[in-house]
Amino acid sequence: MTHDTQSGAVAPRRHTVVVGGGLAGVTSALALADAGVRVTLLEGRPRLGGLAFSFRRGDLTVDNGQHVYLRCCTAYRWFLDRIEGAALAPLQDRLDVPVLDLARPEGRRLGRLRRDALPVPLHLGRSLAAYPHLSLADRARVGRAALALKGLDLTDPALDTQDFGTWLAAHGQSARAVEALWDLVGVATLNAVASDASLALAAMVFKTGLLSDPGAADIGWARVPLGDLHDRLARKALDSAGVRTVLRTRVTSVSRTGERQWSVQVPGETLQADAVVLAVPQREAHGLLPAGALDAPERLLEIGTAPILNVHVVYDRKVLGRPFFTALGSPVQWVFDRTEASGLREGQYLAVSQSAAQDEIDAPVAVLRERYLPELERLLPPARGAEVKDFFVTRERTATFAPAPGVGRLRPGARTKAPGLCLAGAWTATGWPATMESAVRSGVSAADAVLGALGRPRPRHLFDFEEAA
Ligand SMILES: Cc1cc2nc3c(=O)[nH]c(=O)nc-3n(C[C@H](O)[C@H](O)[C@H](O)COP(=O)(O)OP(=O)(O)OC[C@H]3O[C@@H](n4cnc5c(N)ncnc54)[C@H](O)[C@@H]3O)c2cc1C
Repeated sequence: MTHDTQSGAVAPRRHTVVVGGGLAGVTSALALADAGVRVTLLEGRPRLGGLAFSFRRGDLTVDNGQHVYLRCCTAYRWFLDRIEGAALAPLQDRLDVPVLDLARPEGRRLGRLRRDALPVPLHLGRSLAAYPHLSLADRARVGRAALALKGLDLTDPALDTQDFGTWLAAHGQSARAVEALWDLVGVATLNAVASDASLALAAMVFKTGLLSDPGAADIGWARVPLGDLHDRLARKALDSAGVRTVLRTRVTSVSRTGERQWSVQVPGETLQADAVVLAVPQREAHGLLPAGALDAPERLLEIGTAPILNVHVVYDRKVLGRPFFTALGSPVQWVFDRTEASGLREGQYLAVSQSAAQDEIDAPVAVLRERYLPELERLLPPARGAEVKDFFVTRERTATFAPAPGVGRLRPGARTKAPGLCLAGAWTATGWPATMESAVRSGVSAADAVLGALGRPRPRHLFDFEEAA
């Protein structure tokens, strides 16, 4: 491993070690390198990308779970631009979510959640007025609740003490409105049903996504495997920025050796650094934090986790004519066509993304097959005569932190009490639920904190994503 060199009057280039090569760590490393800091990025696994990655299954390239982002995710969009991947994960021109309801006596019925080019909140007005999955009275009450939500002050700490479900009920939302609208969006973005979600995080998502800018909720997703973005292109960007990336290298301890001097232990080697970013999950961060770095480190262990399950089905023919849809009256949540991204040459490959999957995360594949294949046939008539060429499941038991009421007070910021030691990760205090957006934001905040600790100027151009929408 290289160490700082000093020659004559030239100041040594400060060295920062970033631990963890998920989106938070990659972002920190890029932001610091762009600011002129020498960076070593250490990742325990053989690839970058953390929780958003791809793997091979025969001829297919499979994502561990379908990932989407919204136009309002300005930090993640900055990241995509920075790794030159934006064209590979484009946004819809305009929000358009097909919603198939199976629970109708007359059979399956399609509704759409779309937006117009009108100002907020009128941009959703026409779509809501025509939304067939809610009664007229429910539609009117949804509009009133949306306005009340818009009026909430996101900086009010009391919001995090309440659950979203109770708030919705208090604002006249029926069980049907919760199912057909609030949870439809909320479960996928928060990874929890309304009754399990902090009002602060739910309000953040709905205010930012649906009630800020007309285009804020337009959906984007990778048309290539996630690994092409978060591993291959990220690696390329890190290399060109001069970051030394070391894979398959797990950090076992981090200790302070002097005033702003850190020692990072990996098997067989010790790295010296002026600053360290711990961009690892909260439990790992707790294990690596030196004593005294946080006032209440045990709080990190109180942050719960929530699972996401993906069911993957390869058919011998095309059964779905749209890029994605979501379902009501069925256990199926969101279904994406991954044919092209996976490299499948014949037939169609669908990924069924199941958030807040506590009840089925440990279900055997055979049980999930019996549950989901008939449901897909009910939703997609062409699937009835199709042959299933492959069926498999990916399970992420700790996909996100649990966005439960009270979680806000458990999430630490980027700075710790130990000078030069910073935290990053979707679970840190970004105000966002556990998303790619939160991870990138946290990575930028940690880089910002490191620059502060090293006494280096904050480069204006690196941190302008908030205005980039
Ligand atoms: C199935 C699934 C679906 C999702 N869907 C969406 C979605 O649609 N939209 C969205 O925005 N978000 C989604 N998310 C959430 C999103 O993937 C995460 O919030 C984000 O990727 C977290 O990034 P991170 O860098 O904070 O953490 P991580 O990705 O957890 O990265 C931490 C890294 O640290 C490494 N590490 C840990 N310990 C050590 C150590 N001691 N030494 C070295 N390295 C170490 C790990 O190997 C890992 O690579 C989804 C997540 C999953 C799992």
